Order: sequence, then structure tokens, then C-alpha cells
Amino acid sequence: MNLMSTAVLDDFANLAPSLRIDLHSHTNCSDGGLSPEELIDRASNFQIDILAITDHDTVAGLDIASQYITEKNLPIKLINGIEISTVWQGFEIHIVGLNIDLKNKQLHQLIELQQEARETRAVAIGDKLASCGFPDVYQKAKDLAGTGSITRAHFAKILFQQGHVSSLQKVFDKYIGKGQRAYVKPNWCSIKQAVEVIHAAGGSAVIAHPIRYDLSGKWLRRLIVQFKEDSGDALEVVLPQMAPQQRDLMLNYCLEYGLHASMGSDFHYPSKWSDLGRNLRMPERATPVWHLWAESIN
Ligand code: AMP
Ligand code: MN
Ligand code: MN
Ligand code: MN
Repeated sequence: MNLMSTAVLDDFANLAPSLRIDLHSHTNCSDGGLSPEELIDRASNFQIDILAITDHDTVAGLDIASQYITEKNLPIKLINGIEISTVWQGFEIHIVGLNIDLKNKQLHQLIELQQEARETRAVAIGDKLASCGFPDVYQKAKDLAGTGSITRAHFAKILFQQGHVSSLQKVFDKYIGKGQRAYVKPNWCSIKQAVEVIHAAGGSAVIAHPIRYDLSGKWLRRLIVQFKEDSGDALEVVLPQMAPQQRDLMLNYCLEYGLHASMGSDFHYPSKWSDLGRNLRMPERATPVWHLWAESIN
């Protein structure tokens, strides 16, 4: 059912619960498998009403997607987003920025620094993989990434395609995951910097997939306390394949720390396990992150 109308979207605080909303997705401007146009087509086929594109440290897909939506006159509201990699206490924490102004200067300055950090790390990963007996992987990963953000997912794909490992996950487990032979410490910005820039660009800052960092309960709470101190806005409480207990735990953190709640598939490419908008429903007790946008969207 596609209930979107301009009136509904004018007032984000009163969104119809039946709207399909997905606030976390990727294109081939970073490590997604679909172009922005293909992603929009898929979202349209799945009758997604509101979609955020949140590529890793880039906003390059958003103008393309927005033009395509206009050209095809599709009933999709696009939310301008980004997923910023940060380092906190040795953990790589992803901060999603939603409803950001794409023209903001500070945002572009941060993106430039993050891209430099990505490039430096990619070269170093390439060197380490060469020492592991896999030459030329940097260049192939670079070619695969094209003009987009180069990520470890590109390296994983190359090693998998070359038949060195039996799955993409194995590349992380054996080589490029934290603590493995070809892991390189990244020079990402801090959580505080990411939140500040997202706010400067008028957006909301969200801790992406809090359950995926392998943090103990104690460390997860520390992360949320830090995020709150840094004026963060929301936690992703609804993701695909999340156990109800995990969702309730995240929801309780939201309530305890006065944070809003976000939801998204973190779609990268079509798979059996998850897809755009699938199984995403905001719990009743949560205050959705889009309540923060009631006045800023038209
Ligand atoms: P990067 O941001 O360059 O560190 O790349 C991380 C990306 O690789 C994530 O956004 C995921 O899409 C993908 N990925 C797949 N498996 C893993 C894993 N086990 N650990 C971290 N990233 C993974
Ligand atoms: Mn990714
Ligand atoms: Mn992420
Ligand atoms: Mn993501």
C-alpha cells in the first residue's frame, strides 16, 4: 500500500504507520551493488514510501537518485543521508546522518578527510595483502570502487572472486577484520566530529546497527553515554534479523537516555536474508527519529 501524499509528508510527526520507511541503504557510490537509479527502482517496486541513501563517507548518490525520482515521477520521498565511519576506543563505530543539507561546507570538508583516510588505508591494506601472497589487490579493489568510496568490502569481493576464500565473510575473518593479518587501523574522525558535522548540516545523528560491534553490555552502555554527551540524536533500534530481545534492549536504551529511534535495512545488494524495507516496523514505545524533522521537510 502506498499512502504517501504531500500532506502526509509535510507533517513527519504524524506519519501514517502503514508507510514503508527504510532509513539505511547503500549504492555503488560506496559498497552497495546497485546504482542509485537501480536502488530507486527496487525501492519503487517494493513500494517504499521513504528511503534514506546512506553511503559510506559520501553523498554522491543522492543527487543522482533525486534526479531520477523527479524524472520518473516516482512517489518516493528521498532522505539525504550518509554513514560516517568513526573510531571510538579502538572500535569502528558507524554514525548515520539523516536529513542533511548536501551543500553544507563542513560536511564536504569532513567527507574529503574521510576519503583521504580511506585511500591511505586502502593502500596499506593492499601492501599487507601483497605480503600475504595476494599481489595487485589494491588496484583491482580501486577499479571496482571506481569513483566511489573504497571500502574493505571491495577488497573482500576481489579476494573472493580470485578464489582465495570461500565467502566474503571469510576475508574479514582471516585477513581484513580487526586484529587479522591485513587489518589496518583507520584514521577516521571521532564520534563527536561526526555528530557536529551532521548537526551543522541540519541533520540527525544516529548510531548505526549498535548490536553489530561485538560490544559487551558494559561497553555498549559506555558508547551510548558518550554519544549522548556528544549530542547524538538516535539509535537504530530496528534492523533486519534482529532478535526481539535485542530490539527491546535498544529501545530501553533510547528511553533511558532520551534518544530517538531509527530503522533501516542497511541494504547493500539483494539477498535471501534482507531487503529494502523488509520487516521494519517502529515499536510503539519509540519516538521515531523523523519526529525531529517535522518542520524541516516539505
Ligand atoms: P569499511 O567501511 O571500509 O571498513 O568497510 C566495511 C564494510 O564491509 C561494511 O560496511 C560492510 O558492508 C562490509 N562487511 C561485510 N562483512 C563485514 C565484517 N565482518 N566486518 C566489517 N565489515 C563487513
Ligand atoms: Mn557497507
Ligand atoms: Mn555500517
Ligand atoms: Mn550501512
